[in-house]
Amino acid sequence: MAMLIRNGLVVTFEPDALRGRVIADGAVAVEDGKIAAIGESRELSGRYAKASPVIDASGRIVMPGFIVTHTHMPYVLGHNIPVDFTQLKTFWDMLQKMGWEWLEDITTAEGIYAATRYAAAKMLKSGTTTVCELVEGPNALPGALDASAKAIDEVGIRAQLGFEVTERIPGVSILERLDPAMAGKAFDENLRLMERYPAKGNARIQARLGVHTAFTNSFETLREARRIADERGCGIQIHIAEIPRAFLVEKYGKSAPMVLEEQGVLGPDVVAAHCIDLTDEDLEILRRNKVNVAHTPMTNSLGGNGVARVPDMIAAGMNVTLGHDCFFTLDVSEYLRYAYLVHKAHRANPGLIPPFQALDMALGNGARALGLGDRIGSLAVGKCADILVVRPDSPSPVVPSSVQSWYTMTFQGRSVETVIVDGKVVVKDGRLTTVREDEVEAACVAEAKKLWRRNGIAV
Ligand SMILES: [Zn+2]
Repeated sequence: MAMLIRNGLVVTFEPDALRGRVIADGAVAVEDGKIAAIGESRELSGRYAKASPVIDASGRIVMPGFIVTHTHMPYVLGHNIPVDFTQLKTFWDMLQKMGWEWLEDITTAEGIYAATRYAAAKMLKSGTTTVCELVEGPNALPGALDASAKAIDEVGIRAQLGFEVTERIPGVSILERLDPAMAGKAFDENLRLMERYPAKGNARIQARLGVHTAFTNSFETLREARRIADERGCGIQIHIAEIPRAFLVEKYGKSAPMVLEEQGVLGPDVVAAHCIDLTDEDLEILRRNKVNVAHTPMTNSLGGNGVARVPDMIAAGMNVTLGHDCFFTLDVSEYLRYAYLVHKAHRANPGLIPPFQALDMALGNGARALGLGDRIGSLAVGKCADILVVRPDSPSPVVPSSVQSWYTMTFQGRSVETVIVDGKVVVKDGRLTTVREDEVEAACVAEAKKLWRRNGIAV
């Protein structure tokens, strides 16, 4: 039986935000988890007269679900953690203290499960239907990815996920020593997940190999990551140039893009988060290797890392997508708006990153980066039915000529009413249908308390 969503402002984003068809009184029909038809409400109401359910989208926007290409869902356990932030003088301190010592190294499989359920639920409710998740937590091995995948499966969000391969030893400075055996454990974790959730095929959950960075892995480990990605067709997710370029140059006499290109890691199947401190030559390396960039401007601001050269990347024809890191709220509208604004402020140029470019980052570009360009990222016949129905809270008319500005100016995730993934209604009237939100919230807070106590915080 077909599902019909009708009487809405249908914004297709096909083939992209700028050229996509917008239908003032439009409808979308869904059959077998796929989009079966898109058109005028009048026409589709006739063609699908027996559809059930019929969702009346009067006064609402019908659009594809948003795509977040980089995050770490267990980080929500560290939200608002009362620690001494005066200890964080540089990004380096932040990485070692906040990233590793206070969070990742004391994360358990139970914590990953509870936090991932919470983050996935909140993301789904506010309009993110696909996420690329990089699980970290060396002391939660083995089993970290099982916990993550179980949570994702239960909540109903679409995901690619992997565990980060790193030679870093918990509690030991990376300047002192790295250990290839640590990377071995993480490779095993990724490979086990790939048996259950292969990268190829149409499943809602797929494996994507995780690699931490060029500076926490030996060249042998980096080459092994490429070998596995080629063998399994799973692609790679990695952090590039989040830390100052000088760190890599001091260690290797080369930048991260140079090292990664030489070791054969880079390619069109790579999603690289951050990509901040880059020279023209570094950018050219990423461009010629067709690396996809996951732009994460809010965490980059938090860490004092600077602002990625996104306008230059777009001008060079690179595929820039939107990531976050789960350090702030799980509402995609906040990241979309920040990506839209920060480059204007940084370069004192209000003409940079018009709404359509910000939207493409969180839709079509994200889909292509994950190798899912033919399945998600826009409303098109034959694509997966990953669809949002949004009731715009707006002081002005939301019509075809204003809707793109509405996204960057006014949209908030709480306006999302209905969320459909693979043709299944996972959020109805703003409420999750897959899990009990109060239980998910309570379980996450309980795990956050445990993690905080491990940090010596009385709670
Ligand atoms: Zn990250």
